[in-house]
Amino acid sequence: MRIGCHMSVAKGFAAMLRRAVDLDADVVQYFPKNPKSFRVRAFDKEAFAQEAAKVQELDIITVCHSPYVTNLSTPKPELRAVSIASIVNDLEIADAYGTPYLVVHCGKHVGEGPETGTATMIEVLEEVLARVEGETQLLLENTAGQGTELGRTTDELLEIHTRLSASERVGFCFDTCHAYAAGQLDFSRWDEVRAELGRPEFAAKVQVLHLNDSKMGYGAKRDRHALLGEGEIGDNLRLFLQSGLYADKPIVIETPVDAEEEYRDEIRKVRGWLAG
Ligand SMILES: [Zn+2]
Ligand SMILES: [Zn+2]
Repeated sequence: MRIGCHMSVAKGFAAMLRRAVDLDADVVQYFPKNPKSFRVRAFDKEAFAQEAAKVQELDIITVCHSPYVTNLSTPKPELRAVSIASIVNDLEIADAYGTPYLVVHCGKHVGEGPETGTATMIEVLEEVLARVEGETQLLLENTAGQGTELGRTTDELLEIHTRLSASERVGFCFDTCHAYAAGQLDFSRWDEVRAELGRPEFAAKVQVLHLNDSKMGYGAKRDRHALLGEGEIGDNLRLFLQSGLYADKPIVIETPVDAEEEYRDEIRKVRGWLAG
């Protein structure tokens, strides 16, 4: 099983992959640009591809994560155009690096209501996919349901997915912290929840697992990650992992470590849990 973490690509893609090896990671997630900005980043496609080729022998899967400032459901046309251009840019960067997945957060309806928000999100995604070719798949991440966030449940994610015309280019990323904060990951009725999350029509589209603990309580609808096993999910994270859900999918840890080096312990923890 592939286990890794979110890392900084600021010193270059090849350097990031070499540091990942050092942390005993075989999957790495990175931001294509400043995560607080959706300004389109100019880049040299050839140079990125050459840099990625230098580290091909390392056998590490990479995952790109879109900046969280974009809102796929914004009712404002100018913001919509900016969001589309930003995600198109992210997909192009990911593709240049040979990254198979780009994770994006579902939209926020900001008072327009879930139906309108979902319709906007679908229009935006259709336009993004129409503008980009390439191999990188777009993964919709489940949200904590903070504020007016969409995509909180498996049903909501599946509804968006089935309404997309290019749905074969779209999958899901499942985040344990978000699912717990959203009131989805209820360990007091785990067998039922396990069955729902494992439904083939959903599970078959999950390509990446974000393994995080939660600082906030069950159903708190707030997204604050905690170190593995040290948050509100605690020991149940181990139960989740050992249940075999999304078992063959790469695991990315995005916990609040002080320094990248500390991910070594988080990765070791997960490998230990998986070993029993
Ligand atoms: Zn996540
Ligand atoms: Zn989060």
